[in-house]
Amino acid sequence: MYANGGGDKSSLLLCPDCQNKLELAKQRANFKAWRCNNRHCPNRKRELAKLNSSQYQEYLKRPSQFKLRYIYREYAFKIRQIAPQSSAQSRVDLSRIQASPQVLGLILSYCVNYGISAAKTAALMYDIHGIKISKQTILNYAQAVAANIRPFLDNYPYQLSSQLVGDETYLRVKGKWHYLFYFYDVNKKIILADYVTPKRTTESACIAIYQVLKKYQVIPENLRFTVDDNPIYRVARLYYAHQEGINFDLNIVKGLTNETDVAKEYRPAKQTIERLNRSLKANYRPMGGFKSASGSITYVTLYSLCHNFLRPHQSLGYHPPVEVPELTGLTRMPDKWLRLIKLAQEQLPTA
Ligand SMILES: [Zn+2]
Repeated sequence: MYANGGGDKSSLLLCPDCQNKLELAKQRANFKAWRCNNRHCPNRKRELAKLNSSQYQEYLKRPSQFKLRYIYREYAFKIRQIAPQSSAQSRVDLSRIQASPQVLGLILSYCVNYGISAAKTAALMYDIHGIKISKQTILNYAQAVAANIRPFLDNYPYQLSSQLVGDETYLRVKGKWHYLFYFYDVNKKIILADYVTPKRTTESACIAIYQVLKKYQVIPENLRFTVDDNPIYRVARLYYAHQEGINFDLNIVKGLTNETDVAKEYRPAKQTIERLNRSLKANYRPMGGFKSASGSITYVTLYSLCHNFLRPHQSLGYHPPVEVPELTGLTRMPDKWLRLIKLAQEQLPTA
């Protein structure tokens, strides 16, 4: 009767409650669900006892609607194999940029801080500053800077709280919708994950959560993610608990970014994600979508850098979420960008 038969390692899976062999209940592209089918399993009896009388009547009519049995999910991927090492790739060597540092600082300030498109920035550079530079050159510079500073963004020793909020928003890439998986620290307002992908899957959620977890020196015991009710987050939590031994709580809030009346304790998370999404959208709208996947990754990377290190936040007393000591005393945004690039390059491993 055992669906898994003999031989493969899966047949070793046992129910932690009754030690019965688990049976294959579901097979999907990225996971298998193994179930304890023992009617007398303590797990099933416990879950059955939790039902109230109307739920129990419903259960008698439609038992398959109720998940009372122990389920183990086995995933067909390992996070370390699927998580991209560096999501921003460069075609331009920053050291070979022809423009002066001042020009580079101005371009980044216009494009990223003010959300001005590359074409309009090119016009602005000519009309206001008398500097001739093409739209394509601006895009190349942005890409080179993003690729150079990405490790700084990923590896900075952030001081983090344990309260996180995550959400997916949409970006237009080559006429198609891509998903941007965002995770923020609710208290520190720091962007911890900014994963762009065409796939809204459990793997994508796992990769975004991986970007978050990598930023903790020690993963806090009370780590808590507030997310919307997309089931991919529930599956991702099970993946980390079962396969990586990392546990975190999940707060499921329906309509996290819609007009809903959420419980008081979720309100700060909701407000954080709404404010951050709003400012990203306002900034990215003039771009009118991206011509390539790397273009969107470049933009999102520069946006995260600007958000975490450069842009003052009202809720933080007009300080940026992360105050880098090397930037103190600088008042002009172009100068702050250049100092950030210098810092990032100093921290690059010399190969
Ligand atoms: Zn069992």
